[in-house]
Amino acid sequence: MTTMLETRELSKSFSAAPGLLARLRGRAPQTVYAVNRVSLSIAEGEVLGLVGESGCGKSTVGRMVAGLLPPTSGSMELAGRGVERPGVAQHRLVQMVFQNPYASLNPRLRIEQLVGEAALYHGIVAPEDGPDFVRSLLSQVGLDASYAARYPRQFSGGQRQRIAIARALALRPRLIVCDEAVSALDVSVQAQILNLFMDLREAQQLTYLFISHNLAVVEHIADRVAVMYLGQIVELADTAELFARPNHPYTQALTADAPRMDGPAIQHRPIQGELPSPLKRPGGCAFHPRCPHAMPRCAEQAPAFIEIAPRHWSACHLNEVRA
Ligand code: SF4
Repeated sequence: MTTMLETRELSKSFSAAPGLLARLRGRAPQTVYAVNRVSLSIAEGEVLGLVGESGCGKSTVGRMVAGLLPPTSGSMELAGRGVERPGVAQHRLVQMVFQNPYASLNPRLRIEQLVGEAALYHGIVAPEDGPDFVRSLLSQVGLDASYAARYPRQFSGGQRQRIAIARALALRPRLIVCDEAVSALDVSVQAQILNLFMDLREAQQLTYLFISHNLAVVEHIADRVAVMYLGQIVELADTAELFARPNHPYTQALTADAPRMDGPAIQHRPIQGELPSPLKRPGGCAFHPRCPHAMPRCAEQAPAFIEIAPRHWSACHLNEVRA
């Protein structure tokens, strides 16, 4: 199976400037480790779900994969080629669909410009073929070709997200990063857009990195799921395995009483406390202040990310105790 994306120890840190008072007291800028040594691979045609609470770093991973943010360290390969720095080649291979279809479309441009402009710029389509090209993309995402002359304000949220998807498809990407791409939509519209993603995957052999805090959506669409906590992957498994046997206490808490698209909710102890600030990342296992199973070593030593069952990886000292 061809590997579409491989990241190795991908990291992103930001410098956080102190407030005025702190600066007057001579405090130096602090470093925020938003993403810390994330290694992931996605096979061609696969859907990898990336889940975690808001602020855990999953969107930052998506932006680095899409070339919208340069990594601080680590490396990345797309379709077998190393990516040295964000550039045109990466943007052609990877496109991103964002959460808010109201903010992501320029209200002053007609749909034909919004969808076709980048393809014209990159020479993917000749100017005389532009109108047909846009009409074809609109029909691929289930919209009437006559909509090309309209403006974004004339569409509903679900239709706007279809337009955003058509725009992403215009560059003929092989990997699409969906960052909370259905979170702002009504439940019935969510299902339609998820079905569209799956139809496009079949028709165009697309690969997806599907970022969401909504576990029901991820369970529905993903082949495998990676769980992120404070910038690190703490568990990775095939979707059915992860939901049937969540191993990491964080995954167990995250999936507690999560609504399911089908079947009953899974029962685990609900998660305690707030996600700590990345500026004050706890030592050892970063989850230890919230973990109901924390042991003294958890505050001192980071657990290794180990394969606990075929294709099922987790980072928790409890697995070493059990072994
Ligand atoms: Fe909890 Fe310790 Fe496992 Fe971290 S390593 S998840 S604190 S038991």
